[in-house]
Amino acid sequence: MVDATDWYEPGLAHIWRPYCQIKTADAPLPVVATEGSRITLADGRVLIDGIASWWTACHGYNHPVIAEALRKQLAQMPHVMFGGLVHEQALRLATRLCALVPGGFERVFFSDSGSIAVEVALKMAVQFWLNKGFAKRHKFLAFKGAYHGDTFATMAVCDPQEGMHSRFAGVLPQNIIADLPRDAETRVLFDALLTHHADDIAGIIVEPLVQGAGGMIFHDAEVLQHIRAAADRYGLILIFDEIFTGFGRTGTLFATEAAGVSPDIICLSKALTGGTMALAATLARPHIFDAFWSDDPGFALMHGPTFMANPLACAAANASLDLFESAPRLAEVKAIEAALTEGLAPCRDLAHVSDVRVKGAIGVVELAMPFDLEKLKRRFLELGVFIRPFGRIIYLTPAFTIEPEDLRRLTRAVVKVTSEMV
Ligand SMILES: *Cc1c(COP(=O)(O)O)cnc(C)c1O
Repeated sequence: MVDATDWYEPGLAHIWRPYCQIKTADAPLPVVATEGSRITLADGRVLIDGIASWWTACHGYNHPVIAEALRKQLAQMPHVMFGGLVHEQALRLATRLCALVPGGFERVFFSDSGSIAVEVALKMAVQFWLNKGFAKRHKFLAFKGAYHGDTFATMAVCDPQEGMHSRFAGVLPQNIIADLPRDAETRVLFDALLTHHADDIAGIIVEPLVQGAGGMIFHDAEVLQHIRAAADRYGLILIFDEIFTGFGRTGTLFATEAAGVSPDIICLSKALTGGTMALAATLARPHIFDAFWSDDPGFALMHGPTFMANPLACAAANASLDLFESAPRLAEVKAIEAALTEGLAPCRDLAHVSDVRVKGAIGVVELAMPFDLEKLKRRFLELGVFIRPFGRIIYLTPAFTIEPEDLRRLTRAVVKVTSEMV
C-alpha cells in the first residue's frame, strides 16, 4: 500500500489523458512500481501485464542490464545536444543498427518518438524528389488499416475511416489510401492506383506483416514483395514502419527479414530501448542519403529534435541490443507464439468471435460486433490482469520474458471474459 491521496486526486484534475473521453472513461490506475511482467498499484494490487506498455517492454520491466547501463550513463552525461556534438552511445548505436537491420542501411537519423521517426521518413522521401528536381512528387500511397502516428503528416497516412483520426477528415493533406494488395482483385486495384498517381507520389509506406494499432491485422510476405516490385517499377521510395514489428515481436528480429524484401527507409522505436526511454530512429539506404549530399546547403535535411539521440536513451538501446545478443529472445517469442495459439484456441468456438490469430508474441481475439470496452477492462482488472481491448480487438503483446504461468493467466482471462460476453 502506498498513500497516493496527496497526488492522485489533485493531479488527475490537471492531466489530459491519451486516447480517451475523459468525462466517461474509468479513472486511470495509479501505478507505484513495475517488475518483470507485473504492475503494482497504489492500493497494493499486483496485475499481470498483457501489453508490456504498448509492446515496448520486451525484456520485462526494470531489467537489471538496462538499469545498470542507465545508471552509468546518468553519472557520466544524461544529455547533450546533437547539433555540432556527438557521443559514444549514439555512434555505437547507429553502427549497430546499420549492421543489424537487413537491407544495407547506412545512415541513422535519431528522434524521440515513433511519430517523429515517420515524419522524418516522409520528409526524407519528399525532399529526395525535391533535391532531384521533381516538385510534384509529394504525396504518399498508404493502406487501409494502417497506423503511423498522431502528428498531422502521420495522421494523413493512417486509415482515414478508423475512429482515431476521422475527426480530421478534410483537414489533413490528401494522400492515396489503398487496400493492401492481398489477392488478385486488390492487386489490380493497387496497380491501377499507382499507374494513375505515380507522378504525384514520393513513396509508399506500410507496416510490414502486422498493421498494429489499426487493428492487429496480419498479411503475408507476398504482399510486401508485390509492393516492393511496384515501387521499383515507378522508382518510388518504399518506407517500412517497423515501430510495432521491430525487435522480435513477429518472430524474427525485424519483419523485414521475413518479408524477403527491404525498404529504402525504415522506422524504429517502441521496443528500441526495451521500453525504458523515448527514442526512435529513421534508417536510410545510401541512394536516399546520396540525394542530400551536396555543396548546396539547400539540399540538407532540416530537422533536429532537441532531445535527438539522448545519451541515456541510446545507452538503454545499446543495453537492449546486448540482451538480444546474449538472451534467447527469439526462442522465447517462439514459445509465446505456441502458448498463445493453444491458450486462445477455445475462443475459436465462440459464435461472437470472428477471428483468433497469433503471430510471434502477438495474440488477437477479434469479436464479430462492437462491445463495451470499459466494462471489459473492468472485468480483466477483477481477474488481476492488465489488458486493454480496442475497437473489436482483444489482444496480448506480453514481454518476451513473461513466465509461462503468467502467460497462461493472461490467456485464461481472455477466454473467460470472452466467454462471459454471450
Ligand atoms: C506506436 C506507433 C507509431 C507512433 O509512435 P509514437 O511513439 O506513439 O509516436 C507509429 N507507427 C507504428 C507502427 C506504431 O506502432
